[in-house]
Amino acid sequence: MSIENNISGVSCAIPPKAVCLFSGGLDSRLAARLVLDQGIELIALHFESIFMVGEGSGKVSGPQEAAAQLGMEFRKMDLSEELTELVKSPPHGHGSGLNPCIDCRILQLRKAHALMGETGAGFIVTGEVVGQRPMTQRRDMMRHIDKEADVQGLVLRPLSALLLEPTVAEKTGTVLRRRLCSFSGRRRTPQMQLAERLGIYGYPAPAGGCRLREPGYSRRLKELLDHDESSAANIRLLRTGRHFRLSPEVRLVVGRNESENEQIRAHVLDSDALLECSGHAGPTSLLRGGVCEENLICAARITARYGKGRDRSKVEVRVEAGGEKIRFLRVKPAGLGEFDDRLIQC
Ligand code: SF4
Repeated sequence: MSIENNISGVSCAIPPKAVCLFSGGLDSRLAARLVLDQGIELIALHFESIFMVGEGSGKVSGPQEAAAQLGMEFRKMDLSEELTELVKSPPHGHGSGLNPCIDCRILQLRKAHALMGETGAGFIVTGEVVGQRPMTQRRDMMRHIDKEADVQGLVLRPLSALLLEPTVAEKTGTVLRRRLCSFSGRRRTPQMQLAERLGIYGYPAPAGGCRLREPGYSRRLKELLDHDESSAANIRLLRTGRHFRLSPEVRLVVGRNESENEQIRAHVLDSDALLECSGHAGPTSLLRGGVCEENLICAARITARYGKGRDRSKVEVRVEAGGEKIRFLRVKPAGLGEFDDRLIQC
């Protein structure tokens, strides 16, 4: 007897249309393809946030192009604000970094559920694989997440479907269960073999696109949250440069190379001061939170410390502070290790 025939219960047909959580990585492409190949229409739902690698670069072309290649409508949704609140106080706790994965996943499924309602879709598809991630992809945790998101029975995970309870889409015959997979664990060989069979190429290497799992980034973010500085502008600045805490309200960010110097210039706010060595090559620095004389001199000395004039007795530093006339400070470069106690470790 086939697996479908063993399934009791649901006979009412559901629409052959689903919302697919779509990162654009290999797993979500495969999951989408397994369902599309059964004649189901999919809406690719791609989540963005300030915590994702590449955020702010203006590039969503990878997932968007992948969705187009597969023939899916593409929608993107920004979760930055809700995710920032979850990072501060996640009901289910953090992972190894500041990643609130369980609550983030619940949030994503709630969003997908809402989109189902708007678009007349009948179920949700994800590229999750049982046992691939310790926090969210254990079988018991998947059940718990579905329950918390109020989507029990609605989430089809085609890559591991044969290891999981049949979902509504399978019970109604909208999706044929026997054409789904039983992948589990962290090894990606089965997925790569399936990609080969389905002719899916050019997928990105698994890179872990979420910075919240990175220990160094998480330490910096925690320091920021401890100082109640969780605005998007402050969080965006975290990815760039060396960070110094000059006082509880004041932060200095010093570029480590030309690319970071450019990023720092792009992040400057009217209330910030921008500093650069004027007579020598050196970093661009950004002072935020208190542009007073004392902080400017301290910031100029640290900026000079990382420039080519660091061994001079005095160095000139150009200062541009929100609408004021540009001026120059002559300062003694900070000595080796002088402000190390203010450096935020990453
Ligand atoms: S890794 Fe980041 S984006 Fe992914 S579930 Fe965890 S918190 Fe959310």
